[in-house]
Amino acid sequence: MSSRSYWQGLAEHRLSRRYLLRAGAAAGLGVASLALSSCAGGEEEGASVTAAPTRESPRPTPPPGPYVETATGPVSTSDLGFTLMHEHIFVLSEGVAANFPSVWDEEAKKKEAVEVLSRLKNRGVSTLVDPTVLGSGRNVPLVQQVARESGMQVIVATGLYTYDELPHYFRARSVDHMADLFVQDITEGVQGTSVRAAVLKCATDHAGVTPGVEKVLRAVAKAHRRTGVPITTHTEAKSQQGLAQQDVFESEGVDLSRVIIGHSGDSEDIDYLTKLLKRGSYIGMDRFGLDVYLPTDKRVAVVARLCEMGYAERMVLSQDAAVYIDWFTPEALQALGANWNHFHILDDVLPALRQAGVSEEQIRLMTVENPRRIFENVGSY
Ligand SMILES: [Zn+2]
Repeated sequence: MSSRSYWQGLAEHRLSRRYLLRAGAAAGLGVASLALSSCAGGEEEGASVTAAPTRESPRPTPPPGPYVETATGPVSTSDLGFTLMHEHIFVLSEGVAANFPSVWDEEAKKKEAVEVLSRLKNRGVSTLVDPTVLGSGRNVPLVQQVARESGMQVIVATGLYTYDELPHYFRARSVDHMADLFVQDITEGVQGTSVRAAVLKCATDHAGVTPGVEKVLRAVAKAHRRTGVPITTHTEAKSQQGLAQQDVFESEGVDLSRVIIGHSGDSEDIDYLTKLLKRGSYIGMDRFGLDVYLPTDKRVAVVARLCEMGYAERMVLSQDAAVYIDWFTPEALQALGANWNHFHILDDVLPALRQAGVSEEQIRLMTVENPRRIFENVGSY
């Protein structure tokens, strides 16, 4: 998944950067001027000055053949099994719990997550792709514990979740620096763990491709091409943001068949959906249960129609659910309805798809084979 030559390149780059820093210090330039030159040049300052993350245990040896990184180590792609391609465990407003710990009971939430994921595993779901990144409260050390204790294979992500503005840190720095940080997550590990990200995440919502969003899309595209890991996105389907994302990715030389345009299942517009599909991307029919955007019967009808049209090979199914999301008060969450949970596909959607004429083979494509193919198509280019 990570190319040897890339690693060598990074090591050399860091060496030269360290050398420069030492030389700067020796010349009495001091920290301020170094920081200034970093900003002006858009140089990748983070990598070389940060200490190597502490590793909690040696990395397990990857299995032979194609494999994918998960929170509990590399897993053979043939063992991915039934995969939910867009689910969250925790979605937290960035920084709130760290500053106001009284609003977040980590032990209780962890216990709840282990319980839900264990049950899901017992029901036959083997893998869950968790595209939670900076901007939605990513906490990989916690996800790692939940994965270990539940036995669920959890694929973690890197990227940046914003609909418009960037954090100040990234506003002041280059696209390449952002891409370097994503690549670090993919090749070294996330948040001081040995867990490597195996999917890239970005978002485009009603505000469209704002300057901040465009920077993220381009950084994600660059990190994708350098590492080969697939891209999965958030879109607002009703304003057809998937097409805008494809335009930016295409301009970065991205092979659109390596991209999942997420939340496409919020739309009933077959014309829009086939436009996305004809450009080669997968589409995420990945918000089953979020009836406020589109109720289940309509989502099912769209998937069945696209299956009829021969697109079962290009769709993945999921719910975009979370064990805990702090964006809503308990009352507001309740108002979103009981369908929005990690079991809705198993309980209601698969039976409804069968009823609508979707074959077992097509269901297997959307839940097992497509995820496997997505995580096997990971060469850098
Ligand atoms: Zn999501």
